[in-house]
Order: sequence, then C-alpha cells, then structure tokens
Amino acid sequence: MDLDVQVTSNQLAQSNLLRQVLADVTPQLSEGKVATYIPALARVSRRSLSIATAGCDGVDASAGEASTRFSIQSISKIFSLALVLNLGRGEDLWKRVGTEPSGDPFNSIVLLEREAGVPRNPFINPGAIVVADMLCSILAEDPVKKLNELLSELCGSEIASDLEVAESEAAHGYKNASLANLLKSYGNLRNDVDQVLDVYFRQCSISMSAIELAAASRFLASDGYDPVSSKRVVSSADARRINALMLMAGTYDAAGAFAFEIGIPCKSGVGGGIVGIIPDAASVCVWSPGLDETGNSLVGRAALASFVNRSGLSVF
Ligand code: GLU
Repeated sequence: MDLDVQVTSNQLAQSNLLRQVLADVTPQLSEGKVATYIPALARVSRRSLSIATAGCDGVDASAGEASTRFSIQSISKIFSLALVLNLGRGEDLWKRVGTEPSGDPFNSIVLLEREAGVPRNPFINPGAIVVADMLCSILAEDPVKKLNELLSELCGSEIASDLEVAESEAAHGYKNASLANLLKSYGNLRNDVDQVLDVYFRQCSISMSAIELAAASRFLASDGYDPVSSKRVVSSADARRINALMLMAGTYDAAGAFAFEIGIPCKSGVGGGIVGIIPDAASVCVWSPGLDETGNSLVGRAALASFVNRSGLSVF
C-alpha cells in the first residue's frame, strides 16, 4: 500500500495506524533470533513488540508494549556521539574517527588494522569506543551518568543503565576488548583500556522503552533542538551529520538495504530496538528482540517498512 498523502503526528496519535503496523508484522514474530553473545540479553522474549513516535509538534503516539524497557545497546552510540558534539569536540573527533560506511560487521577487527587504528565511523564498535574515550577525557564526572542525565531530560523520565547487562557483556566482551587494545596500540585511545570499556559497556546497557527512545531522539528530527524539553542538543549542522551517518552506517551491514526498503536514517541495537528519524516530522522507535542475520531486529525492520508505507513519512 502506498499513500500519496503524508500523515501528521496528530493524525498518527488519533488513528489506528501504529496498531495496523504491528498487526502487519506480528505473523513474523517467531522468525528472528534473540542475541545470545551477551548472555543477559538472551532472556528476553522474542514475542515482545512495540512502536512509538514522537512528533516535532510534540504529539506522541504508541502501540504494543511501548512502555516496556529494553537494552538500547548500540542505539546509545547516537547519544554518546551527540554528547561529544554538544561539548564542542567535533573537530577533534573527526580526526580520530571517519565518516564512511564500513561494509564490515560492527565488531570487525580486520578494517581497523588495515586502516591503522582509525575507525570508519562512530557507529561501528571501535568508533564508539573512541567516542567513549573522548568522553572520559573531556568530562570530570562519569560519562555514563552524564549520558543518562541527558536521556532523562529528553524523555522526561529517570533513565539508568542495567548493570547486570553491563557485567554480562564485560564478562564476554573479548572482541570489544581486542578492538580497544588495537586502538590503544595505534595511539587512538587516550585513557586506560579497562576504563573506556567500562564506560562503553555501561552506555550500551542503558534501559529504555520505545516511548522514551522516540522522545529522546526527537531532537534529530528537529534540527538538533528538542521542542518538548526546550533543549538544544546539537547544532542543526551536527544533527544533519548524525542523520547522514545513521543512514549510511546505523544498521550494520544492512544500511544500504534499510535506505532502499525504508528510506529514513536508522540506528539499531542488538537488544532489538531501532530508532528512525523523519526530518522535520517525527522520530520513531520500534522494538522486537528477534534479530535477522544482519543483527537488526527482524520484525522491527519490517515494522519500519510498513510504517513508512502506511504513513507516507520518509525522506525520499
Ligand atoms: N554492546 C554491544 C557490543 O558492543 C552493542 C552491539 C550492538 O548493539 O550493535 O557488541
């Protein structure tokens, strides 16, 4: 179904559209595989499903288990990046991390060695680890506390990390530890490896619901300024850059397919959440823990495709 008319967030809130989107994809709920490489994530039910939107006009809508919190994992990378940019460190950052898609898995080591310790972008793990390192250098306080404060302010509820998930990842995070050590060997990590990994694992373990994540990412749909909390998170130029990176590199190796099938900047996490941005209209968050072979939420991806199709809201 292709609609000619684009719906407003007010219409979304008043219509059954989000419920229809969930009905479209419910038959696929048994298809994905919940991430098991972080043991604490493996306990989540594959049948969970939710969607939420946060309009630039301040009108929100949701359907399904939209208040249930889940592990945001890599979605945290958009907020840690926003924090570094908010602190005015973009110039330093873009010397240490690139702005190109990687074409390799998010935790690949090969490319990092080939490119002498400069990660392709801030959304693959080594890039996000450099961002975490920068936050450790810039901030006197705990970067994850600062991140949780920012998220709490943006979504209007108290946000925190789930330390059980962080510890579970730390106990099994051999690949991330090797990426951090490789970065250190190339001089692209200024702080102690263990300190940076601790920050990285705790930022990934932040727990939020679809409603909270949609609200927290609304600033990316409205030129870097969140109209609800009246907070400027990043400049409009940086909001554009984050959206561009999300489109090119926000959904692992499937970023091209996401642009093709869905056509909005997205960032996914292995907890099964995906945040999407429709500039000047709304942010959207879907959650379903079963992942496809590219590590993206299988049903979440299908739900986003149905959402842009039914609502007519897309970049392209
Ligand atoms: N904490 C996870 C890791 O570093 C995040 C992965 C993801 O969500 O893409 O492996």
